[in-house]
Amino acid sequence: MRFTVAIDGPAAAGKGTIGHAVAEKFGFAHLDTGLLYRAVGARVLRGERAIEAALALTPDDLATPDVLRTPEVAQAASKVAVIPEVRDALLEFQRAFAHRIGGAVLDGRDIGTVICPRAEVKLYVTASAEVRAKRRMDEFAERGQEADFETVLADVRARDARDADRATAPMMAADDALTLDTSEMTAEAAIAEAIAAVQAKRGA
Ligand code: C5P
Repeated sequence: MRFTVAIDGPAAAGKGTIGHAVAEKFGFAHLDTGLLYRAVGARVLRGERAIEAALALTPDDLATPDVLRTPEVAQAASKVAVIPEVRDALLEFQRAFAHRIGGAVLDGRDIGTVICPRAEVKLYVTASAEVRAKRRMDEFAERGQEADFETVLADVRARDARDADRATAPMMAADDALTLDTSEMTAEAAIAEAIAAVQAKRGA
């Protein structure tokens, strides 16, 4: 059985939480595609050229996701993500993952529009920039890291602008995506809507 759930939207909107819960509920595999761009960004911060870095990526690059989840790597990721050749280098891996037997959930920015335009279920998960910056602040606090709200908000906005305004595969909702604005929604409510959308398509 092949079944693809495409989840797109800006950073810290809840894509990962929803994707993880949907994958668990239906026994699908889950890929956070942002990690691929982060791994390329991390290599660039170490001095590599972006396209070569994307072509050289191996599973080892993704083995330590925590070191990829820093603000510096996030900004580097969104800079390499504007380069069409970088996106091309990562395309086949994502498509193969999406078509795996047993079902797949992919979250990112262009999954429903470019990577899997024929995904059975497409969700666009969003929230206001302020709410997303606040969530990032809470994550930093949990890890015992200090952060300044205005700086985090500016980072969120800079990345949104770069992701939405780029020429190749910009972040946007597919025409047939269900939009979930999680600004004033609990995680449980958002997960329940996502699960209902999958069940409606599967006839379960
Ligand atoms: O989702 P995450 O915040 O980890 O993504 C990091 C960056 O990778 C994004 O800001 C975006 O520029 C890029 N990205 C992308 N396409 C995807 C996933 C992530 O361009 N499918």
